[in-house]
Amino acid sequence: MPSIESSSPQHSALSELHRQVGFELALDAYHGGLRRGAQAAARGAAGGAVLVTCSDEFQGELRNAFERDVARPLCSGSIVGPRSIFALSNMAGRLETGALELAQQHFAARNASNERVIVVAIMAHCGAVLSKGDWTYGRVDRFGVTSSCCSVLTRLLEHDDEFDAVRHPWREQLNAFFGPERLEALRGLDGSWRLLATAITHAVLQGESGVAEVLRGPTQVSTHVLIACGVVLNRVGGDSVLPVAIHHLHARGGEVELIHGASLRSTPGALHIEHVAGRLVVRSDEHTESVSARRAQGAQRGELAAQTRALRTSTDALTAARAKLADEELDSARRQVEKLRSRPQAWRVYARPVLRGLMQTLGVVAPEFGLAAMLVQSGHDAVRAQRLRKLLERGPSSAEARQTLQQIEAEIQQLGHRDAQEVLDLLLEEREALLS
Ligand SMILES: [Zn+2]
Repeated sequence: MPSIESSSPQHSALSELHRQVGFELALDAYHGGLRRGAQAAARGAAGGAVLVTCSDEFQGELRNAFERDVARPLCSGSIVGPRSIFALSNMAGRLETGALELAQQHFAARNASNERVIVVAIMAHCGAVLSKGDWTYGRVDRFGVTSSCCSVLTRLLEHDDEFDAVRHPWREQLNAFFGPERLEALRGLDGSWRLLATAITHAVLQGESGVAEVLRGPTQVSTHVLIACGVVLNRVGGDSVLPVAIHHLHARGGEVELIHGASLRSTPGALHIEHVAGRLVVRSDEHTESVSARRAQGAQRGELAAQTRALRTSTDALTAARAKLADEELDSARRQVEKLRSRPQAWRVYARPVLRGLMQTLGVVAPEFGLAAMLVQSGHDAVRAQRLRKLLERGPSSAEARQTLQQIEAEIQQLGHRDAQEVLDLLLEEREALLS
C-alpha cells in the first residue's frame, strides 16, 4: 500500500491503520484501531469526533458503533457523551465545506500540554449480497425487497433527464467532484462491483476535501486531525468496513504538516478488487494513468505572471497587503510540495488536496491571482479559458473573482494527480521567477 514514509514517533501507532487500507474488516475492529491511532497520535490529548455518512437508514449501525467505540472513549473527561459527535448525515455522505473548521472551533478542549486530536470518519457505503456463491455489490435487502444501496450513488450513475428536470444540489455537487470522465469510467465497469468502485472513489475524494480544508484553515492550537475514509459494507448479519484512506495532519502555529497517510486511488481503472478467504481486498495500481487527460497549460502562464506582477507592484496599500498574504500562502505551499516531492507516493496522494487548499486560500486573500491560477488549470477547456481571460482583462471585482473561483474550485478534484502536480509546479515556478 502506498504510504508516506515518516520518521515521526507516531508512525508506528498509525501503522495499524495504514496496513488496513484496502482490507475489509469488522466494524468494531476498525473502530478499535481508529481509537488507538487517535490516542497515540496525540498522546492522549483531549478529543473531538466528526462523522460524515449517508442519510441511509442502513448506516444506523455505523452511527451507533462510531459513537460507542470511538467518539465517547476519545472525548471522555472533556465532553458529555451524547455531545461527542459533530455529525453530517446527507445524501451519499458528503463533507460540507466549512464543517471541519466549525468542528475545530467546537471541540476546544485540550490536554495539559495544550494539544488535542480530532477524528474525522468519512464513510461511504455499499450493499453486499451473496448469491450462488458470488458477491454482488450495490444491492441490499430492505425489509423483504431488494433495492440499490447506496441508492444516492446509484442515482448519480444513471442518465435520467426527467430526474434532472428538478434541481438536486447534492447531485450537482457529486457530479462536480467525480467529473464526466470518472463517471463514464465507472458506468463502464462490471455491474457486480460498479457501485463498490463508485463508493471507494467517493470516499477517497471526500477525504481529499477534508485534507484541503485542514490545509486551508490551519489553527494556532496544536491539533492532530486524523481523517479516516472507508466504505461500510451493509451485509446481512452485520456491517463491515473497507478502509480506503487514512490521513494524519498536524496543525499548529498556523502551519499544517502532513505527517502520515495512505490512500487507494480515485481512478476506477486502477482498482483491483478480489476476495481472499471470504474478505474483500482492494489494491490500486500505481501505474495506471488517470482517466483525466487534462493537461496544465503552460501557455496560460503569461496571464499568471501579469497578475502576480500587478499584485506585487501595486501602490495601493490594501493590494500590497494582499500580495504579501498571497506570497505567504505560496511559500507555505512550496514548503509542502518540497517535503512531498521526496516521497513519490505522498506526492501522488496529496498533490490534489494541496492544490485545492492553495486555491481556496488564494480565493480569500487574492481572488484575481486565484483566477489567473485557475486559468492555468482550465487551459484544456477553451470556452472557460476564454471566459476567464475576458474577466481578467476587464479586471474583475474581488466579489466577481471569488464567485467564479467558487464555481470551478470543486473541479480540481477532476484532475488526475499528475495534472495537479503540473499545475502546482507551474504556480510555484512562476513565483520563483518573479522573485528572482
Ligand atoms: Zn447511501
